[in-house]
Amino acid sequence: MLLEKVITYEIFRPKMDSSKEVLHSIATLADDISPAFPYINTELGGWDYDQRNQVLLLKLSAGKWITLHAQKIAIRGARDIEESRALLEWIKGQINDIYDRRDLITPRYTGQAGLKVINILKLLPMTNCKLCGYATCMAYATALREGEITLPDCLPLMEERYREKRENLQAYLESFGWRALDAT
Ligand code: SF4
Repeated sequence: MLLEKVITYEIFRPKMDSSKEVLHSIATLADDISPAFPYINTELGGWDYDQRNQVLLLKLSAGKWITLHAQKIAIRGARDIEESRALLEWIKGQINDIYDRRDLITPRYTGQAGLKVINILKLLPMTNCKLCGYATCMAYATALREGEITLPDCLPLMEERYREKRENLQAYLESFGWRALDAT
């Protein structure tokens, strides 16, 4: 087991975010969890991965973020103490489970933050038809980059005539480890 012991766990309401009803928390770890980062990045679709400084940023749904450092876990956006503790238990389980399976996982060193909206846009039908619920293809491309929607939300893209664009977009997203937020 890579992560065995949490030394301290501090939960607080940040002063700069006092208008928001969310909590921040920081767990200090007895163990160095950084060897698991490239594998967690693959499995959980890391938003940003700074390999040199060993920082992996995970974006979850509903405005929640988890930042992994070698011996720290920072959690932002929990609604209450119970959710904060549940998120810590969830990520601890993920770290140990993924690290145990690392021989079966291809490590990834890029994050979703490297995706460019303009590159996504070029691979959409670019008709601004609004069938996805967004006013423009640019708005859809931005939401897709953030992981807030999925490819089938653009119905025209599923049509045969856009097959090449769809496959190229899928490959582009996958090259950055993209995944929808509700997949976590
Ligand atoms: S459904 Fe597709 S083509 Fe239509 S506006 Fe949305 S992204 Fe553009």
